[in-house]
Amino acid sequence: MTNTKITVTPGDGIGPEVTQQAVKVLHAVAQRFDMTLDIQEVPVGGTAYDLAGTPLPDETLQACKSADAVLLGAVGGPKWEALDYSVRPERALLGLRAELGLYANLRPAQIYGDLVGASTLKPEVVEGADIMVVRELTGGIYFGKPRGVAEENGERVGRNTLVYSESEIRRIAKIGFEIAQKRSKRLTSVDKANVLEATELWRDVVTEMSKDYPDVELNHMYVDNATMQLIRAPKQFDTIVTTNMFGDILSDGAAMMTGSIGMLPSASVGGSNGLYEPVHGSAPDIAGKDLANPLATILSLGMMFRYTFNQGDADTLIQNAVIKTLETYRTGDIMSEGKQQVGCQEMGDRVLENL
Ligand code: NAD
Repeated sequence: MTNTKITVTPGDGIGPEVTQQAVKVLHAVAQRFDMTLDIQEVPVGGTAYDLAGTPLPDETLQACKSADAVLLGAVGGPKWEALDYSVRPERALLGLRAELGLYANLRPAQIYGDLVGASTLKPEVVEGADIMVVRELTGGIYFGKPRGVAEENGERVGRNTLVYSESEIRRIAKIGFEIAQKRSKRLTSVDKANVLEATELWRDVVTEMSKDYPDVELNHMYVDNATMQLIRAPKQFDTIVTTNMFGDILSDGAAMMTGSIGMLPSASVGGSNGLYEPVHGSAPDIAGKDLANPLATILSLGMMFRYTFNQGDADTLIQNAVIKTLETYRTGDIMSEGKQQVGCQEMGDRVLENL
């Protein structure tokens, strides 16, 4: 028997509703895989600010640091929008990622079952598409120095710096290659090596590393072409590895191919544990109404089993239960003719039934 410590941070808005459904699934899957759970629930975001005057209280941070994995709902909402930037709920996310050393963000974009109709792209273009974007999360232009806006020669000048060291490129590329190995062994490295020297280095390092992964077919693509190809023919991609900014943009683009924000899971890994969360925010417009789609959070839990606990079978079990559930039941955001509309809680119950 393994003893597994999971910290749940429900957060704000629909966060508590969707994490509650995922925790139901967590208990059932853990039982199936003979895992003993030690689950701790702690506040984060606006809820934490209301209780402790900070969106990331020390107690929450320690509970996340000492866990094997963290499941996060979402943070933010109109109630906290006027707060100073330093204590806004969203700051908790940046703090957590930095403190946990999570430098790799994994964003799958997959069409589940007959949800193909939810995409704005033609069914024949997206049917069967299954992409994993591996985004570098703690470096690049979002963090490089010098940065800021300063007065120079009588006018304001804005400046950001794109910096990548060889070791930063190596560690994210390693994750890209290893994930490609577990999928269909195709890796696309996206850069702008024709214009940006920092990504010329990126391309060189990734190419050097490919010698250690002879089973993975590597190709390189400029980010402008990758954007076009994602919309033109998404099925040509399997795993994509890229910089922080390119990954930020491409992962949202790839995700929207699926058509619904309520279906998108994510994982941040690289440190000693992993942070798993739906891509969507706290959806204040539907919070507390039992309308939220819990599947993104449930699928994030699946990623936790695959990437932190090395239990790919558990992830497959969860994904299959989701696909089966979608054959009959839908939440409002993905409702289509002939299906039965259910709320957040019932969707969780139906997935449990289909496990
Ligand atoms: P949002 O993702 O919360 O909502 C966008 C739209 O999608 C809304 O109409 C919402 O009802 C719908 N939606 C989102 N998730 C859904 C779900 N699971 N089921 C059904 N419908 C769903 O984005 P927003 O409105 O721009 O932001 C709201 C708040 O969330 C803001 O405070 C923002 O800063 C925060 N936010 C947090 C995160 C996070 O915690 N990771 C991410 C994005 C936004």
